[in-house]
Amino acid sequence: MLKGKTAVVTGASTGIGKAIALKMAENGASIAIIYIGDANPAQDVKKAIENYGVRAEIYECDVSDFEASKTICEKIIEDFGSVNILVNNAGIIRDNLLLRMSESDFDSVINVNLKGVFNITKHLSRSIMRAEEGRIINIASVSGIMGNAGQANYSAAKAGVIGLTKTTAKEFAGKNVTCNAIAPGFVETDMTANLPQAVKDSANSTIPLKRMGTPDEIANVAVFLASDMASYITGEVIKVDGGMCI
Ligand code: NAP
Repeated sequence: MLKGKTAVVTGASTGIGKAIALKMAENGASIAIIYIGDANPAQDVKKAIENYGVRAEIYECDVSDFEASKTICEKIIEDFGSVNILVNNAGIIRDNLLLRMSESDFDSVINVNLKGVFNITKHLSRSIMRAEEGRIINIASVSGIMGNAGQANYSAAKAGVIGLTKTTAKEFAGKNVTCNAIAPGFVETDMTANLPQAVKDSANSTIPLKRMGTPDEIANVAVFLASDMASYITGEVIKVDGGMCI
């Protein structure tokens, strides 16, 4: 489905990003893995991707850093020649009630989760526009749609990602580039692993499908949006949340 394409996936060494990178590779795409911190998990993902017979390279980059993002995007374009698909997935949480939230926790989440999407999109945009059917997929969250107590920073960033997605869709449509967002609900990854069981049970009880989602269930939608099957979808926000937001 993605044979011959190159996909850049940020935060691809863990969780949802890893599942997206692996599923895109399984469907024929070569993958540029952007990670931060520990190179070992990124190397493991690279090896797993190479088992599908496609190319994978790893790039360390803090997506919130404008200049570092520029340098790494230039290196990716140099290495792969062109980029067809971008998945802006990297994200962090620094939860607290607004009354107790520090300025630095607000800024960090906005800088990684929102400015990071701007940085990588901007620096890859020319290459993606040159691709015949470019695809940009931003990982938002239902928190950006509904708001969520304890996540003023995160829900503001994710709502910003939704606005950025719609604007990018409008600005890039003339070059046949689509831009869509996926808004996951509650997904089993490192991000949710440390939540107390009582919080998980209470969340599950409000989800019509009565369970958390898996990274693969988000990756399925990302592959669909990257494929020819989604050629007439742009500016959309697809909730993948077990019905949480109905
Ligand atoms: P995760 O496993 O913690 O993945 C986040 C990834 O982003 C990690 O690989 C992390 O690297 C990377 N990252 C963090 N800061 C970065 C930076 N400054 N530059 C580059 N990479 C950075 O959690 P996840 O659940 O898979 O999250 C993936 C995306 O889904 C996020 O955007 C998140 O907001 C969104 N999401 C998750 C859920 C959920 O329930 N899990 C729900 C809705 C939306 P390190 O591990 O090295 O820090």
